[in-house]
Amino acid sequence: METGTLFICPTPIGNLEDITLRVLNILKEVDLIAAEDTRHTLRLLNHFEIKKPMTSYHEHNIREKGPHLILQLTEGKSIALVSDAGMPGISDPGEDLIRLAIEEGLEVVGLPGPSAALLALVVSGLPTRRFAFEGFLPSKSTDRKKALDTLKIEQRTLIFYESPHRISGSIEDMIKVLGDRKASLSRELTKHYEETIRGKLSEILLVSNERNLKGEMVLVIDGAEAQEAPEIDVKEELMKLLDKGMTKKEAVKEIVRVHGLPRNQVYEESLKLD
Ligand code: SAM
Repeated sequence: METGTLFICPTPIGNLEDITLRVLNILKEVDLIAAEDTRHTLRLLNHFEIKKPMTSYHEHNIREKGPHLILQLTEGKSIALVSDAGMPGISDPGEDLIRLAIEEGLEVVGLPGPSAALLALVVSGLPTRRFAFEGFLPSKSTDRKKALDTLKIEQRTLIFYESPHRISGSIEDMIKVLGDRKASLSRELTKHYEETIRGKLSEILLVSNERNLKGEMVLVIDGAEAQEAPEIDVKEELMKLLDKGMTKKEAVKEIVRVHGLPRNQVYEESLKLD
């Protein structure tokens, strides 16, 4: 029997025009739509006049529903996976089902489309060449600070999802742990009241407190400054290692490894020791 395909279908994060033609076609063609919230997705389907059987797949029924959906795929049914908004699997249900399908050797096809994280990153004006998506931080301040502590020396631009009632607390903790970095807060992206506030974390905190910002939001923060390589006295380091019984060759190799210095520079220095 031919097995079915699992299609990962991103949906708009606000503006319905952001659904792709390909996602619409897949939603029309599949046998079943697995949706995070069927009532929510029904509004989307009604808007585009799509009639399709739906089943719920959300964080509370992942364990029972996952194997059931896999069974339907193995029986030949094609399934579209959608979340309430954006890319399924990104801070949304999907990851487990996708992994199960791959483990079963089923075909998984991902479709490109909206995701709040990438959009917030590109409008932030912060470096986009390397970035780290951190999703939601813990809600308790002590846990949040611990999580932030692990990011202190992360040089990549950081992306966080946040909720309006936690945003000020989170920014306060970020200033304490990471310092008052450059940042950008995007809220209600693609919607009527869309806005992006850019500045230091302290400036964004001021706006957040003054205006009691509402809606869905993404916070993007500059990564840590590159650490300056500590200045070392190569000759002294070499002698220390030789005293410990290393050969010159070994000592050069060790210094290059530990301090990341050019091999030639360390080698030249070792020749002067003769
Ligand atoms: N899967 C979604 C995606 O790919 O963007 C994310 C789902 S996650 C449960 C919801 C979070 O995404 C919100 O709390 C907010 O941080 C962010 N988000 C979703 N839509 C947004 C929007 N229109 N503007 C800003 N942030 C948004």
